[in-house]
Amino acid sequence: MNAARPPLRALDDALADLLGRAIPLGRAERLSTFEADGRVLAQDLVSALQVPPQDNSSMDGYALRCADLQVGASDQAWPVSQRIPAGSAAQPLQPGTVARIFTGAPVPSGADAIVMQEDTEALPDGTVRVLRRPSAGQWIRRSGEDVARGDTVLRAGTRLTPAELGLAASIGLAELPVAARPRVALFSTGDELVMPGTVRPEAMKPGAIYNSNRFFLRAMLRRLGCEVSDLGIVPDRREATVQALREASAGHDLILTSGGVSVGEEDHIKPAVQALGSLDLWQIAMKPGKPFAYGRVGTAHFIGLPGNPVSSFVTFALLVRPFLLKLQGATSLAPPVAYLPAHFDGPRPDKRREFLRARRNAHGGLDLFPNQSSGVLTSVAWGDGLVDNPAGHAIARGDTVAFISLSDLLA
Ligand code: AMP
Ligand code: MG
Repeated sequence: MNAARPPLRALDDALADLLGRAIPLGRAERLSTFEADGRVLAQDLVSALQVPPQDNSSMDGYALRCADLQVGASDQAWPVSQRIPAGSAAQPLQPGTVARIFTGAPVPSGADAIVMQEDTEALPDGTVRVLRRPSAGQWIRRSGEDVARGDTVLRAGTRLTPAELGLAASIGLAELPVAARPRVALFSTGDELVMPGTVRPEAMKPGAIYNSNRFFLRAMLRRLGCEVSDLGIVPDRREATVQALREASAGHDLILTSGGVSVGEEDHIKPAVQALGSLDLWQIAMKPGKPFAYGRVGTAHFIGLPGNPVSSFVTFALLVRPFLLKLQGATSLAPPVAYLPAHFDGPRPDKRREFLRARRNAHGGLDLFPNQSSGVLTSVAWGDGLVDNPAGHAIARGDTVAFISLSDLLA
């Protein structure tokens, strides 16, 4: 019984199709700015103030009026009429005087430059000489030069990073509106799978392997801001798979599984999902990867990843990651691509677009992990990124290749 093989689908086409189904969940919550790292902003942030609030000094020194110096002799000693530490209010500058000022302190009205203290000489009578003629505006940070009142500082759909938390805090926001965490139910299929910690390595039965996918999938989901219900390992039986799916469909936005999406008789995902909802099995023209399933069970999305660990990892990074970001309303979904020289030859070109595990070396190029098999998770741990190699393309040493950093795919 050899069913006709469905045609392979281009990855970009599969991704566009998948993203078309990722309608943003639209649930938002307010979070302490401290807690919002990695979350997606649900509304634009508009500033109610100028940052910095007033013109202020970027040096320890003296505030003065440049025109005063033009009329005075070059060795003139200037009286110091006020002292302005950071956090204090300044009085208008009295003509013919200078003001002692410190970094971050407001510039007094009437002053138009700061001389740094290294360019002055403090005399025993309390006056100062200015040793270097200032130019107008020097060492003054202008009010609003970072953020002007009314500016949209960050847009809805921005994924927050530490710098953005600081920026939001700089306009006075202690809480931020962010997309609610997607609720994801995760399970692994496969009768061969054993959880580390339950059976010692030397006691493993023939054919048994430890469940590795569960660990990286859960960690990647967490990094994407998801709330994960981990349903563990589901045996390779139709009823058990249906039962797990039924349980998972309530209260989750996405059911994510690994394994069982091929079309062997031990692969129960397809009939089980179809019994409860709908499912499309995609054969994606990518390596590693290929089998990938998308469907619906009740109101939940369903995504079935291949079981081979590297295939699972790569399809998660390239397909599920943007899907989950889009559910949260994120606007930037594609990882940045760098173009770097290959410091390796080959491997043999493949009919499918290939994502080769590689890493940057100290000479500005890329080294390739020797074993690119989809079961060899060491390649991903060793590598720091994926070379995106077009179908049928042979890489020769020195060629420029497209490289996607793992740190971007894991962010
Ligand atoms: P499957 O997609 O179920 O046919 O599995 C493909 C290959 O991946 C088989 O060699 C499985 O033993 C292996 N595999 C499936 N799930 C996992 C997992 N959670 N951890 C490690 N290997 C797995
Ligand atoms: Mg299996």
